[in-house]
Amino acid sequence: MNFKNLKQLFDHFNSEDVCRQYLEQQRWNGNVECAHCGCTKVYKIEGGKRYKCADKFCAKKFSVTVGTIYENSKIDLRTWFAAIYLVTSSKKGVSSLQLHRQLGVTQKTAWFLLHRIREMLREKAPAMLSNMVEVDETYIGGKYKNKHKSVRRAAHESNASHVDNKTCVVALLERNNKVKTHVHNKAGVTLKDMVKQHVDSSARVFTDSLTAYKGLDKHFADHQVVNHYEEEYVRGEVYTNSVEGFFSILKRGIYGIYHQVSPKHLQRYCDEFAARYNTRQIFDNERFELSIKNSEGRLKYNELIGK
Ligand SMILES: [Zn+2]
Repeated sequence: MNFKNLKQLFDHFNSEDVCRQYLEQQRWNGNVECAHCGCTKVYKIEGGKRYKCADKFCAKKFSVTVGTIYENSKIDLRTWFAAIYLVTSSKKGVSSLQLHRQLGVTQKTAWFLLHRIREMLREKAPAMLSNMVEVDETYIGGKYKNKHKSVRRAAHESNASHVDNKTCVVALLERNNKVKTHVHNKAGVTLKDMVKQHVDSSARVFTDSLTAYKGLDKHFADHQVVNHYEEEYVRGEVYTNSVEGFFSILKRGIYGIYHQVSPKHLQRYCDEFAARYNTRQIFDNERFELSIKNSEGRLKYNELIGK
């Protein structure tokens, strides 16, 4: 598969059957598993559109969409695939309004599609970061972003997770590899706790000079600080420019495309940006395929709106 734009994607996925077969290939790679009990003895029913589990205690019927982000949705797979392609190939993301216009679904449907796609893009079992890891924090929210760094710094120093209704996001980036994000919204969890949670103790950690990071040298092979307040940005290998570059993409997307993101959904937006960043070396069609392989896991509409 080597499509280069949305038209070629639609030309390739020209029917629901083609989409379903592709999904089966990506999900099972020829070894169909019962979506309910994991049994590998299954047989085809309904002309191959669905399967039935051969285990006599289970004996359930299922299709390839059971247990995936597509489950129980009335949206056809072609539309899902187009939405996934648009999200994964647009550097700054796609808004529900754009998706509504481009794919002809309602904005509410588009919003739901986007959140499920973000859930799909979230790394389910991420490995600890190691080697050289840059850590930085930022505040996401309307007014705060324009404030001077000294004001933001005072907020960090007070170790508050919400300041002026803005939410703290920490990004941890293994240099030349990948980034992880952590929305700081739990009282009692410190920045140091967060770094320990995501970074292997063998790593060298680079941060800014925030006092909240003091003492990291006790847990990691090395902890070096860049003192931005004294206009220091690079000292040999010691810098946080890569993680700052990630934040600038994240912020351009959130402020430019989404305008506003509620703290409740912020982690999912960050996951979306991290997923694109972490696959930045591969082509759009490869990123699409990788995402489809990861279709398991779903999010119910009621969970999303908090009911
Ligand atoms: Zn079964």
